Amino acid sequence: MKSQARVVVIGGGVVGCSVLYHLTKLGWKDVVLVERDILTSGSTWHAAGGFHTLNGDPNVAKLQGYTIALYDELEKISGQACGLHRSGGLILADSKERMEWLKMAHARARYLGLETEMLSMKEAKKLNPLLEEKYFVGAMLDAADGNLDPEGTTHAYAKSARIGGAEIYQGTRVTELKPRKEGGWDVITDKGTIIAEHVVNAGGLWAREVGRMVGIELPVLAMEHMYLVTDEMPEVVAYNKERGHELPHIIDFKSEIYMRQERSGMVLGTYEKNCKPWMPRETPWTFGRELLQPDLERIEGNLGLGFKHFPALGKVGIKKVINGPFTFTPDGNPLIGPVQGVPAGYWLACGVLAGFSQGGGVGLALSNWMVNGDPGFDVWAMDNARFGEWATRSYTNEKARETYGRRFSIKFPNEELPAGRPVQTTSLYDVMIKQGAVMGDSWGMETPLWFAPKGVKPIDKVSFHRSNDFKHVKKEVLATRKSVGVTEIANFAKYTCSGQGAETYLSRLMTNKMPKLGRMILTPMLNENGKLIGDFTIARTRENEFMIWGSSQAQIYHMRWFEQHLPKDGSVQINRLGMNMVGLSIAGPKSREVLQALTDEDVSNNAFKFMDSRRFDVANIHARVNRVTYTGDLGYEIWVDAASQYRLYQAIMKAGKAHKIVNFGMRALLCMRLEKNFPTWYRELRPIYGPYEAGLDRFVDLTKADFIGKAAAMAEKESGGKLRRVSMVVQAGDADVLGDEPIWHKGKVVGWVTSGGFAHHVNKSMAQGYIPKELVNEAEFEIEIIGQMKKARINHEPLFDPKGERMRG
Ligand SMILES: Cc1cc2nc3c(=O)[nH]c(=O)nc-3n(C[C@H](O)[C@H](O)[C@H](O)COP(=O)(O)OP(=O)(O)OC[C@H]3O[C@@H](n4cnc5c(N)ncnc54)[C@H](O)[C@@H]3O)c2cc1C
Repeated sequence: MKSQARVVVIGGGVVGCSVLYHLTKLGWKDVVLVERDILTSGSTWHAAGGFHTLNGDPNVAKLQGYTIALYDELEKISGQACGLHRSGGLILADSKERMEWLKMAHARARYLGLETEMLSMKEAKKLNPLLEEKYFVGAMLDAADGNLDPEGTTHAYAKSARIGGAEIYQGTRVTELKPRKEGGWDVITDKGTIIAEHVVNAGGLWAREVGRMVGIELPVLAMEHMYLVTDEMPEVVAYNKERGHELPHIIDFKSEIYMRQERSGMVLGTYEKNCKPWMPRETPWTFGRELLQPDLERIEGNLGLGFKHFPALGKVGIKKVINGPFTFTPDGNPLIGPVQGVPAGYWLACGVLAGFSQGGGVGLALSNWMVNGDPGFDVWAMDNARFGEWATRSYTNEKARETYGRRFSIKFPNEELPAGRPVQTTSLYDVMIKQGAVMGDSWGMETPLWFAPKGVKPIDKVSFHRSNDFKHVKKEVLATRKSVGVTEIANFAKYTCSGQGAETYLSRLMTNKMPKLGRMILTPMLNENGKLIGDFTIARTRENEFMIWGSSQAQIYHMRWFEQHLPKDGSVQINRLGMNMVGLSIAGPKSREVLQALTDEDVSNNAFKFMDSRRFDVANIHARVNRVTYTGDLGYEIWVDAASQYRLYQAIMKAGKAHKIVNFGMRALLCMRLEKNFPTWYRELRPIYGPYEAGLDRFVDLTKADFIGKAAAMAEKESGGKLRRVSMVVQAGDADVLGDEPIWHKGKVVGWVTSGGFAHHVNKSMAQGYIPKELVNEAEFEIEIIGQMKKARINHEPLFDPKGERMRG
């Protein structure tokens, strides 16, 4: 065994072997993998081996497409068969809603370059005669679906990695990880120590334990999962003989069953609601290549329904039942990347529930990240930084069970999943609920979405179409635009940055010039490739002190970046304020009068200008007041310590009474920003777009000293980039865009929607998205909304207050 290596990958499952292979592919030869037992001995060996491209997040779907295409390459390099069966797959819908979901997945596939086809049940039955068509309303065919041999595939990765120079040590367990003073890690194993620059936690079923070695509790939980293998079925034999190929895979949403051919029988697995975690606290190191006790009673309901939907299955004998554990995260997507707060060189590649659909993409993205400093794709949906400190072990347990049980369920756009909530609340939680607030989870924080008036039930009717909140959100918007509204903004991310070197440091991270004392700026943040990795409001609060506001969801992601770039000389301190500082935003033409009634500070237009940020007392509370709101109207953000929020709210409501102040929720806020063409982080602003493509030109100051991504930004400016963010008015029916719909032009898919909805003040259905820059002056587009083409036109100017007179006036 080597005593020194550039990388030690911990874990020889399909994911660890993929990471190892991809590192060698990118040219790192001095890499080793350490496996406790033998390769595949975690959850990998007993997998059913199915693969598919379907994923709610288009960026993950793309990486799944990469994984599936990779297997031919692996076979070629390694000479090891992966046991590929590229049979295609049918996804069956039993209801109107599921059919709508399939139509949307099919539409999305068009711009992802994935091959799908909508089928009638007659056509589906032709492809797979085992199904009873009367239980379904339609189907989608996914040509990329198939299955493979899990052991063969893992060995194909491992052999390819060895050919690329990697070494693999089996029967070697990592027992401890110690960061070295000079950087890097001591990887202590039961066979000796390896000094490494990087370690990768690909520990699968033991990922939590390998996390604990560096003092972190990863949001990962193993769940028991069962599949049955049937005896030979005459129907299958006859099908193969007649058609000369295998039966396609099947996913049946209703019975929560997936199914594929195995020899002359079938494999049938379930994602039952009645699911069971495995080893909720700790995975024993003694767990070997064992199976768990089958428990068919638990999946009785699913099987009963399945036998109705596929009658031939009810008649055949069961050869074996496999019950094995594999890991889930709270949202079902992997955990990859470096971890904020852990010394450099510790990487995650774990929580992968579909190793044979995602393993290749995880390996590629992580290796890119390690070798080139950037994953090379938009991996936000897999980045471990998407979870905060609220994702505790018990939260993970509740959420992972919910996610497992909903694996084949639809998640509606206006659906808030209940497990594990409420996690965090502000002091206004009960006050808001009493006033009819329908709450949503915003990065762990309960946040009002909309307010049901007296006599209206405060619940969302989940739907892909406009729903019961529509008219109530409209009222909130109209009342705010007419007079004044108040909303909670506690969930925004807030940071302080201070010290002698603070300005130089921030100036190097951000594209815009830092503001003068008492003023604010808006600024994107870029990576070295000139892509958007952040979008902030920054105020200078003292000569060497700044406050920064950003996206709540990205706060760990941003802190990781901030900390990575801190100067080593201690001249800069950066802190995340969390929920110790909370805020309320008042917006609308009467908001100034409300604020003035609560303070003796002169807040008239000349004394307190747009983009001013100042400390003064509001309702006798020390507050920081920013003259800015995301509504695009006249408005103010009032930031106070958490203990004072209740008092502030009461005072605002009292002062606002004369102006008929209303509460407005997150949905009204998001719809008001639409009519101002304002983008949102995570939808319009992501690391696949450049600042000029996103229309943030005026916040990029190329005249200032060097900043990260400047060279790439200059190149983008010169070339104009490839894409343009546009805002469109859509001739929608009773459904607005949700995001991820294709944008068509002259019969071709040319772009995609990032977000949208109904803009109530201007009374129009609106969408934002990206199209090739050459098309920005074209007049006619179409957007495919739930399978229907809807006309759309670009609006180059905001429909509300295009000159910004309300904001500035
Ligand atoms: C019944 C069942 C059916 C499934 N069907 C499918 C399917 O059809 N399609 C699909 O894509 N996925 C399927 N899966 C899921 C799939 O098995 C997992 O996604 C995949 O195996 C995860 O691989 P991994 O490498 O992350 O983890 P693992 O396979 O658990 O590998 C982790 C490895 O790390 C090693 N290790 C851990 N700690 C240490 C240490 N300290 N030192 C050294 N070595 C260590 C372990 O020994 C283990 O070999 C199924 C799972 C089950 C249980």
